[in-house]
Amino acid sequence: MSGSSVPRVCTRCILDTTVPKIRFDSNGVCTFCRIHDELEKNHPLDAEGRQRFEALIDTVKHHGKGREYDCIVGVSGGRDSTYTLYTAVRMGLRPLAVHFDNGWNSDISVSNIKNATEALDVDLYTHVADWEEFKDLQIAFLKASTSDAEVPTDYAILSVLYDVAAKHGVRYILNGHSFRTEGVAPITWTYMDGRYIRAVHEQFGSKRLTTVPIMSLTQLLYYTFIRRIQVINVPEFIEYEHETVNRVLEEELGWRYYGGHHHESVYTEFFQSFLLPTKFGIDKRKLEYSALIRSGQMDRAQALAAVQTPYAYNKEIVEYTIAKLGLSNEEFEAIMRAPVKTFEDYPSYYSLIRASRIPIKIACNLNLLPHVFYEKYLGE
Ligand SMILES: [Zn+2]
Repeated sequence: MSGSSVPRVCTRCILDTTVPKIRFDSNGVCTFCRIHDELEKNHPLDAEGRQRFEALIDTVKHHGKGREYDCIVGVSGGRDSTYTLYTAVRMGLRPLAVHFDNGWNSDISVSNIKNATEALDVDLYTHVADWEEFKDLQIAFLKASTSDAEVPTDYAILSVLYDVAAKHGVRYILNGHSFRTEGVAPITWTYMDGRYIRAVHEQFGSKRLTTVPIMSLTQLLYYTFIRRIQVINVPEFIEYEHETVNRVLEEELGWRYYGGHHHESVYTEFFQSFLLPTKFGIDKRKLEYSALIRSGQMDRAQALAAVQTPYAYNKEIVEYTIAKLGLSNEEFEAIMRAPVKTFEDYPSYYSLIRASRIPIKIACNLNLLPHVFYEKYLGE
């Protein structure tokens, strides 16, 4: 916290010095706000942006001619991915919906996926990870004591999406991420690459991973440069306002909200509402609210007031998570007490990524834009 007990807050958003390596310009505006402006320039929501999006959709259709599907849409049952699927179908695309089941789906997310794919008449492929294996990987990350305990899920999803795309000869993966609503995550909060995940698992895990796909760098290079598979963040091209989107999804797809940002997964709820704030002092609402402030969807004073109240967590969810992972209370307490580490304490491709422009382009295609912009703006 740069030597003082009161964190310094950005004058435009609500990110503060609890964010590693955050910097401020002479007006007190943080680096993440500048990154937002840069992204805004690249993804304007005007007529030109709309035209660009339509041209992109035409390209997707063109490359999909003669194939069963023209794009892959990853679905979690959450708002962003469901709306991405909805938009794809409304734009005349023929998507295959792909879901990665890591064992933590809430009942609502399961019914959301079912309702959406049925209402939109879209095929669904579900990749189910073996629970014992996935549990082993999740516990390994908890023991590694890094603040990115959701990375195994995020990276496995990405690996499945690329895999399925390649299998079907599809070149486009549609994703529900948007900098306008989710913001740009600091690198130490969400770093991921195949080497890092395998290294953590090797050190702290005990099972062999056969049903949890973890793409290697070689595979990634192959998918990106030989198969030319691209990731498109659909919400970045369209007007995307939470309340309107919720209403459309509820009315047209029988979708239901699950009560918190990314709480469609029970583990994500545990992670964001309990593990991050309690052990790491990280409040992800700051990231989300900051994004909403920058895109004019939330009032800054209101956001500042909201984060004064500690992130509310459901004790039952915490107890359920510990029990489901099969951890004893002593084991869990040891995890909570262990000194905090970052991905830089473990082997990864990070130095390679830093040293090379090509992996940075891959990271871009992989929807790892935050890291890319981190390099651009926050790199030492
Ligand atoms: Zn800011």
